[in-house]
Amino acid sequence: MPDEAPQKPDHWSQIIPDVERLLMPGITHVPSPMFNAYYPAGYSYPSIVGEILSAGIGCVVLNRETSPACTELEVIVLDWLAKMFGLPRHFLASDDGPGGGIIQQSASEGVLVALLAAKMRTVKRVKMENPDWDEDIIKTKLVAYSSVESNLCVEKAGKLGSMTLRLLPADQDGRLRGAELARAILRDKHRGLIPCYVVATLGTTGTCAFDCLQEIGQVCQPQRIWLHVDAAYAGAAFVCPEYRHLMEGVELADSFTMNPHKWLLANFDCSTLWVKDRKYILDAFSIERPYMKSVESDRENYAPDFRNWEIGLGRRFRSLKLWLTLRLYGVAALQDRVRHHVSLAQRFANHVRLDPRFEIYKRPQLGLVCFKLKVDETLIFRTGRYSTNNLT
Ligand code: PLP
Repeated sequence: MPDEAPQKPDHWSQIIPDVERLLMPGITHVPSPMFNAYYPAGYSYPSIVGEILSAGIGCVVLNRETSPACTELEVIVLDWLAKMFGLPRHFLASDDGPGGGIIQQSASEGVLVALLAAKMRTVKRVKMENPDWDEDIIKTKLVAYSSVESNLCVEKAGKLGSMTLRLLPADQDGRLRGAELARAILRDKHRGLIPCYVVATLGTTGTCAFDCLQEIGQVCQPQRIWLHVDAAYAGAAFVCPEYRHLMEGVELADSFTMNPHKWLLANFDCSTLWVKDRKYILDAFSIERPYMKSVESDRENYAPDFRNWEIGLGRRFRSLKLWLTLRLYGVAALQDRVRHHVSLAQRFANHVRLDPRFEIYKRPQLGLVCFKLKVDETLIFRTGRYSTNNLT
């Protein structure tokens, strides 16, 4: 690559070969059918067309009135998705309650946004119960909980949201149990701290384990602790009714995230967040200015200014790619795809079981099979390395 940008325009005929020659060798081509590591990347032609349309239309949505169709399509598509997954009705915008959904860039943002909303809710409640307490002091006492198996974005959210985060031990199946959480909460209460926020993972990054949501919810709800569900990968499986038992207890959650960009054929970036009550996000995020004022208030009617639901101000027309994907595939094809992937994973797991060189690590879940080499570990410790000769 030259050190400086060209003074005069290059020609496409020079640029495209450079893409192949200089860039592609440095790219892990995740959408390739030959790529089988990590999570799938659900690229699809409808979604790519959605991205092209979005870039071509080029709207920058600052508030609802700027381009009402952008906001309204997002509201509709998020309701479609929530119904497809069988999520509780309180997450739907079309329900009478104060819930609703939004597309965010990443599940990491969803975890942080929910943490900040939880913080606002708890500070307000504690302040109401103890009017003479200082709000800044209350904030220093708040604690969040998740499991050691949760994604790093949970720890990051604690850091960014200035909240103490406890990563609790998981059981031998990689799940966070309610009793473990209850013990940690009790310990903190004895220390004078204020439990505020819990992240339960459905489909952990390492082994696709499912935290015991029902148990966790039963600990959180009576103590008014915000429960966020991170189903970044596994959420897509709930399009199939036979996997919904894996989210038993979801009605106890205050917020829920999944990533259509992982397993639902939407291009990166596309992460969906639903909340049971948008009031707390609005309390945490809303800043009003005369030049941004919307005619309708999101507090009285459901008329979201999504800038008040997320970190950024201007936003892209992300719902287009999801809308095209859902329309051009239809729910049945998306269900078939999930079922096909799960059956491929089971087939692969059977191959691994029959191969004496490998063993399955943890229980295969959905489309994820973790396996490892059967290696004589004493040899590795003795020599600091191993060769293929050491394989059984
Ligand atoms: N949560 C889980 C369970 C994940 O597996 C991942 C990524 O793999 C994330 C969150 C982070 O997702 P994002 O890249 O959208 O922030």
